[in-house]
Amino acid sequence: MSEQFIFTRYRTDCYHCGEDADQIIKAVSAQAQVICSNCGATRIFIPRFENTEVVGVCTPLGRYDIWTLETGARCKNCGVEGAHDLVVGSNHLTTRCRNCGYTHFYRFNLEYIGQCPIDEEGEVSAPPAP
Ligand SMILES: [Zn+2]
Ligand SMILES: [Zn+2]
Repeated sequence: MSEQFIFTRYRTDCYHCGEDADQIIKAVSAQAQVICSNCGATRIFIPRFENTEVVGVCTPLGRYDIWTLETGARCKNCGVEGAHDLVVGSNHLTTRCRNCGYTHFYRFNLEYIGQCPIDEEGEVSAPPAP
């Protein structure tokens, strides 16, 4: 059984395709991903550290807006299933248990376009002949 820690979505303008589309956010201990449901653009984050200390204010650097979300998850530290703060920035992704303050800190690792539905058939995106 695969671990399921965070699974939520956030609707916003995709940085890649520019559409207003759900950005699917998945996180487990080993990795976090943000995937555009429209174009499949995927950002991978890898764990940097975990702790129970208060993490300082994250400096909003980078190309993208910071998303501040709330989602339900089961904390692996205190075992309570409850609200977690989820912050997604261009270079980092953090989750924090509201019950005990346990924090996962991920940093941006790579991005790729996971799917190109328009190109699969080779016809859909072709412009009309003049
Ligand atoms: Zn997109
Ligand atoms: Zn906790």
